[in-house]
Amino acid sequence: MSNVDWVIKIANQVEAHVRRTKGEGATIVCASGISPSGPIHLGNLREVMTVHLVSEELRHRGWQVDHLHSWDDFDRLRKVPAGVSPDFQQYIGAPLAEIPDPFGEYDSYATRYITDFTQALEQLGVRPRYIRQSRAYRAGQYVEQIKRAMARRLEIFDILAEYQTLRADTVAERRSEYYPFRVYCQHCHRDTTRITSYEEATTRIDYTCDSCEYSGTFSLDERVEGKLVWKVDWPMRWSYERVDFEPAGEDHAAPGSSFVVGQRIVQGIYEAPAPQFARYAFVGMEGRTKISSSVGTTATVSSALTIIEPCILRWLYARRSNSQAFNIDYGQGLLRLYDEWDALERQIVAGKASETNQLAYNRSIKTTAGLVERTPLTAPFSLLTSVIDVTQGNMEQTLRIISQHLANGYSPEMLRGLLEPRLTCAMNWVTNYQPEDERTTIRDSFDAIAYEQFGEQERAGIRLLVERLDDAWSLEALTRLLYDIPKLVRGLPLDTQPDNALKQAQRSFFIALYTLLCGRDTGPRLPTLLLSLGRERVKCLLAPNGKAAIA
Ligand SMILES: [Zn+2]
Repeated sequence: MSNVDWVIKIANQVEAHVRRTKGEGATIVCASGISPSGPIHLGNLREVMTVHLVSEELRHRGWQVDHLHSWDDFDRLRKVPAGVSPDFQQYIGAPLAEIPDPFGEYDSYATRYITDFTQALEQLGVRPRYIRQSRAYRAGQYVEQIKRAMARRLEIFDILAEYQTLRADTVAERRSEYYPFRVYCQHCHRDTTRITSYEEATTRIDYTCDSCEYSGTFSLDERVEGKLVWKVDWPMRWSYERVDFEPAGEDHAAPGSSFVVGQRIVQGIYEAPAPQFARYAFVGMEGRTKISSSVGTTATVSSALTIIEPCILRWLYARRSNSQAFNIDYGQGLLRLYDEWDALERQIVAGKASETNQLAYNRSIKTTAGLVERTPLTAPFSLLTSVIDVTQGNMEQTLRIISQHLANGYSPEMLRGLLEPRLTCAMNWVTNYQPEDERTTIRDSFDAIAYEQFGEQERAGIRLLVERLDDAWSLEALTRLLYDIPKLVRGLPLDTQPDNALKQAQRSFFIALYTLLCGRDTGPRLPTLLLSLGRERVKCLLAPNGKAAIA
């Protein structure tokens, strides 16, 4: 194929790797993993989407694919995220799965963030096999692998030491004291512990805790009170789960990073092949919004889904190469994003999309399990947001106006269903993200002072509009009338082609209308604005006492 995208390139590598290591017809294991240490962001979604899209490509080629997603909820809490009580400092060092939910709704800290993200993935049509590391470790699934790491701890130390600068005079001592396993203290539950001895025959571990000075003992054959250190834990699971592909953020791919060290450990200690790897670049948020100062670059996936349709969010990740960083615009750029998507759909329908665009589109709208949620009826997002803006979020009025706009015969009630989820996304965007100073404020009475300052032709135009309003109360007729009026008041034939003078006259007329309606010289498209306001209100704002006949 001449025109390949990044998903095809990675899938080709994984396929070749699997043919080499497992053979034709094997089940391919593609792994993603996230530590649920706080709200899960757009950047974390790239980990899962990268694996999901590659898995889907391989399924299309006929392979059995297992997308397994590890919740690293047996990791320690490293820092208390913004918005969580500072009292949670006391849990730093404890496993995420064994800390209470800061808001008292879930059975643990980890479950809160796992649930939020899992629901978002479900909406996106991404349904991996989930493994909670806290359960796998506690259930003893990895006990043989842990024993192996303990037995070969000096070799592991030597591999890690190659990538570190250690003081020569302390290496021998540190090597003899090194254990690749970190105990969670049975008394204070933190990982601030030191193993003081390990007996291979009985698997007995003795440790002391630096936080609470507790000294404890347990045998790995009885229970697993801790986990392998990250740089050993990762390759251990590659071997245990027979992982063929796992991506990671750019910081994991540098020399001495966990992937490089992990490759050595999986081959040297676990005698298994290292998986195929891909690094992916950062994804963040941008745009001027009502709440950008407090949200910063840390938008969650669930927040994105309140304003972006699931298939469009998938498209953002599918269309860009994994090595390319990007931001998702929560401000005015969101309106352009919807326009781009609608333009792509028109190209697809017309059969004019490029092969790359067609691929990205296909990856966005469906999976091998079915269709991804998508709005059945396309209405421009900017139309929805401007009507919602002007009607102050009144759903009944909004649907009535949209139905006049689209003029496709659907009643407002039928439209409601056909416009979802886009309609709710537009409502959420106007309500929660559009800055106050971009909102349209409608005047509550006729502005006589401004009216007196308009030129005679503007005033005549306004009188004419009020007179003819009743007969032109539809989107199409209002649009025509608004462009005709400057010609009528100048005595020009209606088929006059606009020259610069006429364009200027039209602009002055529109500014006069915006001034009387919104108190400023710009606003939503005038026909939309007029229909949104309703006839009576428009008349009150354009003429004293709502009457046209004034001198
Ligand atoms: Zn302790």
